[in-house]
Amino acid sequence: MSATPASAASPVPSAPFVPGPGESVVVFLEPDAGPAGPAAGAGSTVGTEPAVVLRVADPRLPALLVTDQGATRGDGVFETMTAVAPAGPDGAAAGHRVRKEDSHLARLASSAEALQIPVPPAEAWRRAAAAGLRAFAQGSPDADAVVKLVATRGPEGAPGGGHYVRGAADVGSDGELAETTEPELLVPPHLTGTYWVLVSPVSAGLAGARERGLRVLLLDRGFDSGAAERAPWLLMGTKSLSYAVNMAALRFAASQGADDVIFTSSDGKVLEGPTSTVLLARRVPRPDGTEGVELVTPLRSAGILAGTSQGTIFAAAAQAGWALGYGPLEPADLFDADAVWLVSSVRLVAPVTHLDGEELPQDAGLTEQLNAFLAEDLAPGDHGPNGTGATPIS
Ligand code: PLP
Repeated sequence: MSATPASAASPVPSAPFVPGPGESVVVFLEPDAGPAGPAAGAGSTVGTEPAVVLRVADPRLPALLVTDQGATRGDGVFETMTAVAPAGPDGAAAGHRVRKEDSHLARLASSAEALQIPVPPAEAWRRAAAAGLRAFAQGSPDADAVVKLVATRGPEGAPGGGHYVRGAADVGSDGELAETTEPELLVPPHLTGTYWVLVSPVSAGLAGARERGLRVLLLDRGFDSGAAERAPWLLMGTKSLSYAVNMAALRFAASQGADDVIFTSSDGKVLEGPTSTVLLARRVPRPDGTEGVELVTPLRSAGILAGTSQGTIFAAAAQAGWALGYGPLEPADLFDADAVWLVSSVRLVAPVTHLDGEELPQDAGLTEQLNAFLAEDLAPGDHGPNGTGATPIS
């Protein structure tokens, strides 16, 4: 689906692309069109249903059709994972290790389901990421990597591409168009979208931002905290490609001298950052007189993305005996907390130093502890009892 001028002229590349030091690489997941198909011979077939061929390419070359709805409408989904470079002399053979890969693949599948975009199976994404990382390691063996997975609805007007609405044309198993009104065929298993994995070096500026901490603005997102449940077509809490609003909020913050944003709902609940999850900590007395830590994050049902970093941190914190809380939170809870952070897969755990210009308490020890929890890479547990309440401190 990712037809390029280059591939149209020469469908079978003579040699696979090898990125140089610090360069990125892209791996396209292309539906296997069989021996006569456009991607024939260009990679290995993954899985049986539906079959996907991997094509490793230079991301600087044109790749998307101008009609691709990921580009024309932001109609697609994505995930951003990180991969840790192998350590020590024996590490190279093991290769880069993708952090929280299962969580990211599960979230990609649920975002794609929310948008009704057919996507390759998890195993195909896993192999595509591994192929991209192997290529990346040839140029940058010691560098950590950002691994971005993207799935779009594909080109407008392509067979099976476009909108899966009642009565729309579907592609039959022989590739011919077939008219259907059967609800179960509204989302065909055919891979009519555009799919790729981009592997790039981690941006050098991120560590600095993490160390300095963040000056954050509270900004109204304009929806109340019941909007996600009332209006699922808003796609709140999905990782869709429509991030222009999130980026605009970050630019607004920058214009006010701030580094980042925490969105609030119109009824005053704390939501999330444009690219991160909010965490706060409170030091609380235990029944035995010692001090424990309660870690709290906003309610997901208010329409926020289920953060994989938050899930992993909470799993390790629970094992360490910390209490866990799941909103609802209001701005006063942030001002009253002992520490507040924005967490995400790429930036990791970044302390919030100022909120709307007011200085917040810092706790370097807790920040270090949260980063250590994140590095444990545990599978996330359940997101709280029905998303509410806190586990008592033992
Ligand atoms: N919330 C939003 C809106 C995001 O875009 C992101 C990540 O980009 C996050 C939260 C953090 O998610 P994760 O920890 O899975 O990276």
